[in-house]
Amino acid sequence: MNTTLTFTGWDRPGITAELLGSLGDSVEVRDIEQLVVQGRLVLSVAVDTEDVDAVRGLATQLGLQLDVTSECAAVVDRQAASAIAVLMSTALAAADVGRIAGEIADRGGNIERIIRTAEYPVTAIEVTVSGVPASVLKQALGPISTQIGVDVAVQSADIIRQGARLVVMDVDSTLIQDEVIDLLAREAGCEAAVADVTRRAMAGELDFAESLRDRVAALAGTPVSALATVRDAVRLTPGARTLCRTLNSLGYRLALVSGGFTEIVGPLAEQLGVHRFRANTLEVQDGRLTGRVVGPIVDRAGKAQALREFAEEFGFAASRTVAIGDGANDLDMLAAAGLGVAFNAKPAVAAAADASVTAPYLDSVLYLLGITRGQVEALTR
Ligand SMILES: [Mg+2]
Repeated sequence: MNTTLTFTGWDRPGITAELLGSLGDSVEVRDIEQLVVQGRLVLSVAVDTEDVDAVRGLATQLGLQLDVTSECAAVVDRQAASAIAVLMSTALAAADVGRIAGEIADRGGNIERIIRTAEYPVTAIEVTVSGVPASVLKQALGPISTQIGVDVAVQSADIIRQGARLVVMDVDSTLIQDEVIDLLAREAGCEAAVADVTRRAMAGELDFAESLRDRVAALAGTPVSALATVRDAVRLTPGARTLCRTLNSLGYRLALVSGGFTEIVGPLAEQLGVHRFRANTLEVQDGRLTGRVVGPIVDRAGKAQALREFAEEFGFAASRTVAIGDGANDLDMLAAAGLGVAFNAKPAVAAAADASVTAPYLDSVLYLLGITRGQVEALTR
């Protein structure tokens, strides 16, 4: 016969030791769970005895409420978590959390746990759900997320969330705030022509490889010194350093894949401790760009291919890869990854990805990976 004792009340150090100590040496713990929420303790312990008078007296003395249930059955099975939903917003309204919770209930799910994982610069909460598959929840919560303007990322609550992964990032408008080809065009004085092709390419109207060739051709004759000027002009996305530093310290592997240029992407990778990169290489002759690209073009398919190759090289299963990108040429890479994250992406990309981040901070992605703001800050101390 098991007895489940559930104590609730104000917490203080040593309280668990006193309560369990009073049960005596011969009593076996069949199950135990403890939480402290805002200074209040909930301790539930299932033991193989019905003799609980001593602990009942102690609980009264300590000002705790005690609920005692006896049952012949084994310890009540805890519901296994099936999905984890991360909610992120600069201001999380109670009504919005309520709508998400309502939708979870409507799909037959139950919320097992909610913790806040970040409070600045975005509020992030992690909701652990049982009883409904992640795929079902993702479909249900996606449309609501867009309506209420809260980023909602649903993932399966499996072991993938533990341990290091490979994170592959797009560069232009993801790792950095700029589009490098536009910066180069500005240096070359062909800004308007290139901007128009870029816009149409990123919207998926043009084949990326063709549009890249067109744009690079417009750069013909530009002195190679323009590359150094552009390298200096590039602005990292807020949170990019924090993201890379944190993931590095956790043993993650990082890679950049870009339809841009090695001349810019290589130094960025080095600066941020990124392990691998793949990008296009501009041909140079007599100190000037020829307007051609050397070797095969890294396009939409090439980015996905690079992700697969890096994963194989580092020994990560596809399920242990994360891709982050914003444009149409990231779609294959986002689909190939275990977790595809659209970062301030075009609507079509956000809709296709596993998760979409609209906060302009790249380190927000950490909260999708189960890392908390407190842990990030502890690493930098
Ligand atoms: Mg991009």
